[in-house]
Amino acid sequence: MSAAALPAAAPRPVSGRGLASYALLGLPLAMTALPINILLPDFYARETGLALTIIGLVLLATRVVDAVADPLLGTWVDAQKGRGGYLRPILVAAPVLARAGVGKSRAEFAEAALFTHKGLSGPAILQVSSYWKRGEEIGITFLPAAASDWLIAAKRDRPRAHLRALLREHLPDRLADALADKLGLDRELGNLSDSALRAAQARLADWRFAPSGTEGFAKAEVTSGGISTAELSSQTMEAKRVPGLYAIGEAVDVTGWLGGYNFQWAWASGHACGSALAHQD
Ligand SMILES: Cc1cc2nc3c(=O)[nH]c(=O)nc-3n(C[C@H](O)[C@H](O)[C@H](O)COP(=O)(O)OP(=O)(O)OC[C@H]3O[C@@H](n4cnc5c(N)ncnc54)[C@H](O)[C@@H]3O)c2cc1C
Repeated sequence: MSAAALPAAAPRPVSGRGLASYALLGLPLAMTALPINILLPDFYARETGLALTIIGLVLLATRVVDAVADPLLGTWVDAQKGRGGYLRPILVAAPVLARAGVGKSRAEFAEAALFTHKGLSGPAILQVSSYWKRGEEIGITFLPAAASDWLIAAKRDRPRAHLRALLREHLPDRLADALADKLGLDRELGNLSDSALRAAQARLADWRFAPSGTEGFAKAEVTSGGISTAELSSQTMEAKRVPGLYAIGEAVDVTGWLGGYNFQWAWASGHACGSALAHQD
């Protein structure tokens, strides 16, 4: 099998050139802050009456404290445990296909998923969470761009390779290892039966998870449910059965995907309602 049969966009460690290009892009940003850095000490000196040297030393000290405190705080936070384990995200998945819901309310999203000690997260999971109901499973396709019989082809082309190594070529190492451990095919591909490889392919294409719950309101970005849109005028947001009562935004049974749709809905419905009230006799 050629590696090209798998998604070319699968994540790999960032190269030196990649890092340099990030830094280059950051340069203009840093330069826009330069005038502020030059003018601020003078402003502070004038306002406080302190010598410019003192102001400079104080600002330098804040930078030093920042440089020391930031990594220390990050390390401390990484070491903290939440209810389900460490708070630190341990595994970042490649783009996946994630799906949830049944029948008409079934939906599938091609986004990134994050695998943490605490559970599943990331855009793909946030998206499907709006369609998931307690007790149901969600399905995840790892390597969504892989050809349908990619493991069989790999067995033919690279019989000495191990599934773990193959997965590591296209997924973050810890995720690849976790999946390989679950699949349990710890032999050279050439020594594995086609049916075992097809079963692994099928599992990778539709890995089932049964979430035990969500993080609840404390972490929710949008609520599902609310006042039925059928009960409201779409022109004014006024309740059809209770004149003078209006409902907008989150109060209404409208749930947007990630990407600003909830803000859009809140503002649009608020604008419709506000305009209607302003034009009342
Ligand atoms: C962490 C987070 C991230 C989000 N990110 C995005 C995003 O990136 N894009 C996006 O589109 N949406 C996002 N959302 C969703 C979006 O913020 C909401 O859908 C939107 O703000 C809803 O607007 P709203 O006016 O209906 O409600 P709210 O913004 O919740 O406003 C309701 C207001 O009513 C006030 N209030 C409540 N009770 C009373 C009372 N009894 N008396 C007086 N005032 C009261 C509250 O204090 C609040 O100010 C995010 C939400 C969260 C929590």
